[in-house]
Amino acid sequence: LKSRTIPAAEAVAQSLTSAEVLLGAGAQQLFFKYCSTFDSTNEGNIGPVAEALLALVGERRTLACPAFPANRRTVYQGHLFVGNVLLSESSMRDHPLTPMRDANLVRVLQAQTRLTVSLIAHETVRAGIDAIASAFDKLDGIAIVDAIDDTDLRAIGAAAKSLKLVTGGSGVAMGLPANFRAAGLLGPLAAPAQIRAPVGRAVILAGSCSAATRRQVAAAMAAGHPALQVDALAIAGGRLTSEDVVNFVAAAQGTRAPLVYSSADPTVVAAVQEKLGTAKAGAVVEDLLGAVAARLASSGFSRFLVAGGETSGAVVAALGVKALEIGAEIDPGVPWTLSTGARPLALALKSGNFGTDDFFVKAWDAIQ
Ligand code: ADP
Repeated sequence: LKSRTIPAAEAVAQSLTSAEVLLGAGAQQLFFKYCSTFDSTNEGNIGPVAEALLALVGERRTLACPAFPANRRTVYQGHLFVGNVLLSESSMRDHPLTPMRDANLVRVLQAQTRLTVSLIAHETVRAGIDAIASAFDKLDGIAIVDAIDDTDLRAIGAAAKSLKLVTGGSGVAMGLPANFRAAGLLGPLAAPAQIRAPVGRAVILAGSCSAATRRQVAAAMAAGHPALQVDALAIAGGRLTSEDVVNFVAAAQGTRAPLVYSSADPTVVAAVQEKLGTAKAGAVVEDLLGAVAARLASSGFSRFLVAGGETSGAVVAALGVKALEIGAEIDPGVPWTLSTGARPLALALKSGNFGTDDFFVKAWDAIQ
């Protein structure tokens, strides 16, 4: 779902519809996944969606753990760290849609929900599966759970075996398949297949302003990728259209994938938002990149690298993609995928702050 920043009531409605389908298909446990940087506002949407899903499954307790240690997101004493700084001191403090100015997740989530938010601290997590499970047994509401490495995440996953709802970043899902396997619900692990990309040209669409994406844009340009920067004010004023962008991409020469990016530093983004309003600034860029992707797909482009979570949502929606086959990871949390359907496309959907600086240059080596 693309439910991070839409009005909370819509996020709840979309999540409930999806959850009902999954429960109807026999799902015994739901996993509500959100960003490892806990991207949200005072209105939501993590709190309201978690609350609604709990009501749907008829429970009053769940956990919330965005930790993703492989990407250096860790939670300690309820505080989210990005690398060696608090969330509120990371580049997430200047995110265009969800500026995160408080690293205390108990406080952040409590502002979004009527349920009680508490902490299961690292002392308990380190004590192991039984200690965590007994903390879950005593819980009424939502517990932020500390996790600083994958051992913690696996223990949390094992302890969450009987919770009907688990919430978190993708990291905490790591512990869940072992439960399904132990219960005989899942076969042995198969290695992810290398994606066989369909024949066709490649393009990079970057709508993320996150620090890692801005470094990746600079590295791609230094490596010789033809690049076009799109400006939100020019789009809003009708001076730049999807046709202009498609013309640039189609005419780009050389073997390196052309790059279209709106990525800009926080002062530029703030000035644009001042003029257009935050929601409109985001929407014009998302709509343009979605329209560009759709036009390129219909003219034979088949390999898309997209940077930005919301941007990826806009592109996938514009392409009409319904489901993805997951392939091998390029970097932690970013696999190549292949869309299902009559005309499959290879897609790498990169969260803004994920990936090494040379991601746009190297990602192509991981598909055939
Ligand atoms: P991330 O994964 O880094 O959070 P997202 O794509 O989820 O990236 O969010 C970035 C948001 O910022 C999108 O809504 C995008 O349209 C918007 N945006 C991108 N470039 C600009 C810009 N130059 N000015 C204002 N908003 C922008």
